[in-house]
Amino acid sequence: HQKKVMGRGLPKQAPLPGVKRIMAVASGKGGVGKSTTAVNLALAIAANDPKVSVGLLDADIHGPSIPMLMNLSGTPEVTKDNLLRPLINYGIACMSMGFLIGGSQPVVWRGLMVMSALEKMLKQVSWGPLDYLLVDLPPGTGDVHLSLCQHVPLSGAVIVSTPQDMALIDARRAAEMFRKVGVPVIGLVVNMSGFQCPNCHHQTHIFGESETAQQLGLDVLGEIPLHISIRESSDRAP
Ligand code: ADP
Repeated sequence: HQKKVMGRGLPKQAPLPGVKRIMAVASGKGGVGKSTTAVNLALAIAANDPKVSVGLLDADIHGPSIPMLMNLSGTPEVTKDNLLRPLINYGIACMSMGFLIGGSQPVVWRGLMVMSALEKMLKQVSWGPLDYLLVDLPPGTGDVHLSLCQHVPLSGAVIVSTPQDMALIDARRAAEMFRKVGVPVIGLVVNMSGFQCPNCHHQTHIFGESETAQQLGLDVLGEIPLHISIRESSDRAP
């Protein structure tokens, strides 16, 4: 299938050694819960079958969230083959710019440097053996997205959005970008779909209803409500 779709997209890319499937997690806008979804998707895939091994690559070079979300800090070791060894927590192998530059350091880089860092984190990391490598992309449809699609064969992309029209319109742009380069769009996760008041249990659709998602022609994979426990357990500093 990969060969066929690449025919109308990009030239055929070399797979990562020992990695069976690479999936992107993307969003149009920032702050919609893309990293939270990527982390929970990785954990859910691993929890579903203990024989399945999962890795998580934080491709958000300018705003890496994976170290905090995965409760990981430290510097990766270098293997005998001169590859970086991913840091592991909850059974998930992780690599992030946050491990390489230290906690609060800003990355003030031009596009070319960012893309070369992404290539290194893909190809100079001892990822395998993995059944799935999830890539948490930065928001939007920029250089990093195209670079990822050019460097490795992607099995598919999951798009994350809130139900706001403004976020959904950009989510559709992100989906279109993947389709253009021949990457199958698996569907849309609607995050912050509603909020249930803990006192009166009334349900409020703070960011609107997600009917628009279907109208945009994306399969809705699931809806995640706004919940304080999601924010509290995600944002706690390591
Ligand atoms: P993105 O990767 O799209 O920028 P994040 O995953 O970093 O977004 O989430 C942004 C913020 O929203 C974080 O503080 C996160 O804990 C919070 N958040 C994400 N999803 C939910 C949710 N369903 N309920 C409550 N808080 C959430």
